[in-house]
Amino acid sequence: MYIHLPTVIITTILLNLLLGAAMFVIFNALKSQKSFRTWGIACFVFAIANILAGLRFSLDAPWLTVFVADLLIILVPLLALHGLRQYQLQRSVSNRWTARIMIISAVPLYFLYQNPLQAQVLTASICAALYIYSGAYVQTIKPTPKFTRRALSVLFLVHGVLLFATAVVVAIESKASLVISSEQLITVLLIAHLLLTTATTVLFPVFVFSLNERRLLEVVNIDELTQLFNRRGFFELGSELLVKNQAQARPSCVLMLDLDRFKSINDRYGHAAGDACLRDVARIIRKHMREHDIAARIGGEEFAIALADVDRMQAEQVSRRLVERVAQQAFEFEGERIDLTVSVGGIVTTANQRDLSELLNDADSALYEAKSSGRNQFRFV
Ligand code: GH3
Ligand code: MG
Ligand code: MG
Repeated sequence: MYIHLPTVIITTILLNLLLGAAMFVIFNALKSQKSFRTWGIACFVFAIANILAGLRFSLDAPWLTVFVADLLIILVPLLALHGLRQYQLQRSVSNRWTARIMIISAVPLYFLYQNPLQAQVLTASICAALYIYSGAYVQTIKPTPKFTRRALSVLFLVHGVLLFATAVVVAIESKASLVISSEQLITVLLIAHLLLTTATTVLFPVFVFSLNERRLLEVVNIDELTQLFNRRGFFELGSELLVKNQAQARPSCVLMLDLDRFKSINDRYGHAAGDACLRDVARIIRKHMREHDIAARIGGEEFAIALADVDRMQAEQVSRRLVERVAQQAFEFEGERIDLTVSVGGIVTTANQRDLSELLNDADSALYEAKSSGRNQFRFV
């Protein structure tokens, strides 16, 4: 099959202009998300770079068709990365690194631009490194759903590998002074590049919107003081866990943890000190949780925990550790030492058809027992 190179280049240009316009339309509707503007600019820069590179065959001005064109091609992944950082941090991001990498790339390119093939090897290698870095960076944007994150990351990585392959092919070609024997291969690589760029750009909004939705859910489900779930979050996620346990005939466990004589701590050291204690206790709870456990502050100084996949012995062990750990911890507020203990009540059951609020009531009765037996201990029903 013969693929006409100029057609591929023209398609690339048109597609990128279109994608850039789409990004600007989204930015216009969602002014607070500056990353869309950055990605739109990246698409336009890519289109301009392709126009300049395409002029190589008809215009004898290598400083423009090689030097400037290659610099613009390097600018594209830098802008993509800049947009991702703007999105992750939700504030304006310094251009320092983009500028530095552009300057560092410009120096060798300046010496190579009379030789387009060598310049292409350098450009492809720099872009490859930037795409691979972006692939790894996407993985750190954590609250996004795994699938979207992985898909975007894989696209970046494949893109990086492909560009390295391009660099190697062009390097071999320039060494052996072959006269464009691999034009077909370059065309195929260019098409793959085009498809990957398009797919990545199309995934950007999906990525951003899924992160947005996740953040909104967090706002309604997360307790601001402790960053654990709030009551609403506990019931939403805890109920899901309960249904899963019951479907797999696994025991369900709910713990309630209440700070002992907390009113007197507030009275003695002040409300701010009380808040600091609540945050510290939350930190201890978080440390004892595994990935699928759900911990929440469901009331003023009351915490609820749904443990995933534990039996009675393990649940008691977790409760014992929580009680001991809080009692051992030296709480401090503005230089004053605060002695703090907690009581825990729990239930572990394999009974079906019990909903979360019933289990929570049982855990609360056990907690009452722990309190009336002297506090700083745990009890199970
Ligand atoms: P017990 O050992 O029986 O649990 O005694 P207690 O004093 O902890 O129980 P009580 O329910 O009487 O008091 C709870 C106190 O928790 C009342 C309130 O001052 C305090 N409290 C509730 N929510 C917050 C909060 O968000 N921040 C702070 N600092 N204190 C809170
Ligand atoms: Mg209390
Ligand atoms: Mg209480």
